[in-house]
Amino acid sequence: MSPENDFSDTEIEAGRRLFAGEWGFLSAASSVASLPPGQGLEVAFAGRSNVGKSSLVNALTGRRTLARISNTPGRTRQINFFDLDTRLMLVDLPGYGYAKASKTEVSRWTTLLRRYLQSRATLRRVCLLIDARHGLKDVDQPLMRMLDDAGVSYQIVLTKTDKLSAGELVLIAERTRAAIASRPAAHPEIHLTSALKRRGIAELRATLASFATLAIPSSIVAAPLSPR
Ligand code: GDP
Repeated sequence: MSPENDFSDTEIEAGRRLFAGEWGFLSAASSVASLPPGQGLEVAFAGRSNVGKSSLVNALTGRRTLARISNTPGRTRQINFFDLDTRLMLVDLPGYGYAKASKTEVSRWTTLLRRYLQSRATLRRVCLLIDARHGLKDVDQPLMRMLDDAGVSYQIVLTKTDKLSAGELVLIAERTRAAIASRPAAHPEIHLTSALKRRGIAELRATLASFATLAIPSSIVAAPLSPR
């Protein structure tokens, strides 16, 4: 069901060490022109408003300030970038499905998001947060379509799993897996998390850390083979 048991101690430790590093706020973008240049690799977090994104980001990074920065007035409709020693960029995408958002706002956000997803060579994975109580909803479909169209790998992360019994969790995980089976860019593994009970946090860190360690400095890639 969840890849919870599929991680070695070494991978869990790599995740812990990476996320214990110094996260800093890099910038916020409200237009394509203001997107920062890519550096290292990046992972993004998306989900409908109230899905538990701030709580999960806090639990992963151990920094309340990151989510607080994203949630300051004016920033909630922007793409917020946080970096970790230039090795990994954490990107907080604005929550969608907010009932009070105007049509103009939704259209501006959609254009920015589509351009970001289509143009971001450094983006390795989008964590698509879904409330475990509700599962995938119609409101999640436009983003999933955008991710599939852009060919950006995304992974479902079920949040607030503490609100469900073990049996309910098995059912929702199965239903979610079936729903994404034919989605071209959806990763088949589903992460089960609870920021409240700290469930699945170490495992999600380990998954994301694997992208940071996979990063090969461009100087190495570009270096010509030296004659022996
Ligand atoms: P965001 O709008 O997606 O950033 O969501 P928040 O992180 O602000 O969380 C929305 C609500 O869900 C808040 O009342 C949180 O306390 C609650 N919440 C978030 N994560 C969890 C969790 O793991 N378990 C439970 N039971 N509640 C949670």
